[in-house]
Amino acid sequence: MIHFDSHIKSKLPGAKTTIFTQMSALANELNAINLSQGFPNFDVSPDLIELVHKAMKDGHNQYAPMQGLPELREELSEAFSRNYGLKYDANTEITITSGATQAIYAAITTVINEGDEVIVIEPAFDIYAPTIRMNGGTPRPYKLQGEDFHIKWAELRRLITRNTKLIIINTPHNPTSTVLSKKDMEELDKMTRGTDILVLSDEVYEHIIFDGLKHQSIAAFPNLAERSFIIGSFGKTFHVTGWKTGFCLAPEKLMSEFRKVHQNVVFAGNRPMQTALAAYMHNPENYMDINLMYSEKRDYFLELMKSSRFTPLPSKGTYFQLFKYDRISDEPELDFAMRMTKEYGVATIPLSYFYSDNYDNKILRFCFAKTDETLENASELLCKI
Ligand code: GLN
Repeated sequence: MIHFDSHIKSKLPGAKTTIFTQMSALANELNAINLSQGFPNFDVSPDLIELVHKAMKDGHNQYAPMQGLPELREELSEAFSRNYGLKYDANTEITITSGATQAIYAAITTVINEGDEVIVIEPAFDIYAPTIRMNGGTPRPYKLQGEDFHIKWAELRRLITRNTKLIIINTPHNPTSTVLSKKDMEELDKMTRGTDILVLSDEVYEHIIFDGLKHQSIAAFPNLAERSFIIGSFGKTFHVTGWKTGFCLAPEKLMSEFRKVHQNVVFAGNRPMQTALAAYMHNPENYMDINLMYSEKRDYFLELMKSSRFTPLPSKGTYFQLFKYDRISDEPELDFAMRMTKEYGVATIPLSYFYSDNYDNKILRFCFAKTDETLENASELLCKI
């Protein structure tokens, strides 16, 4: 009989199943409208589906190369150079991963060792801190300021110690829907210049940015790019989160180390999807205007919610919209989110989940990557609260 408790030292004591899985399960169980976990509920392009069929029928069913399919890496290289002005070498500086989560895991594991510190900007996507800890590192949280969730760089800078190894940025930002400006990127450049601090730039929502704002990719800042991993997601751009296909870009020195980790985590990503995505991505018209589609959804959702007692916060990118509910209740976010799912039939995510101190400001995150019908039905319920 193995004594599991004494034999197995938990890598993540106290960790629970993520809120996304919990809330989606609760929504399914109660037949509630699920605006919690971020995923689109509308159809994927039939052309893209057809390309997957074709890839499978054509026999592209065995392992992809460890680095990812060359055609797809070429497409990414072209797209980044066209969109942001920096050419990543498809052979040595781009790797296709099993989703952005795996790419983030591999990037953090590549550079973080015992005793290293990582600056994490909160509210933060939930996988950064546990991954840092699993590698013996320590997250150093910085709280975004004000209702527009901005960075005060002079304050953030104070978190730097001689152990600071990495800073993680995320733009457009999940969960707040804010975006970093050119000025922010220049501040990041100034702050890291002359140091050994690396940057992990989570850009999975690069194509979902609104109101004429321009996505500030690390790839538009060559000095920063030299010290950075960029993480991207086909799931977000092509409405196929279930395909778990993403990518990482980094200068050759970082990428060669990244691949050592990557090949031991998954070896390689899914082959037929990569074949299909390479063909589909070849035409930028297939994705470059998803920002318009999503900004229309955001506007429609806000219009539908106008007569509710929820107060919207600005959403500049991603497919999330924050609402304050302080005019409705003073319950903590998690309690209110649970009650709203059970009693009113709409599931959301409490913002407090994304803070290491569970900072509670009566704000919920709603995913609007949904059909008009879903948004109409959800807001009808929400307007009754
Ligand atoms: N990125 C999505 C979200 O924020 C889903 C994450 C997940 O389920 N792991 O909701």
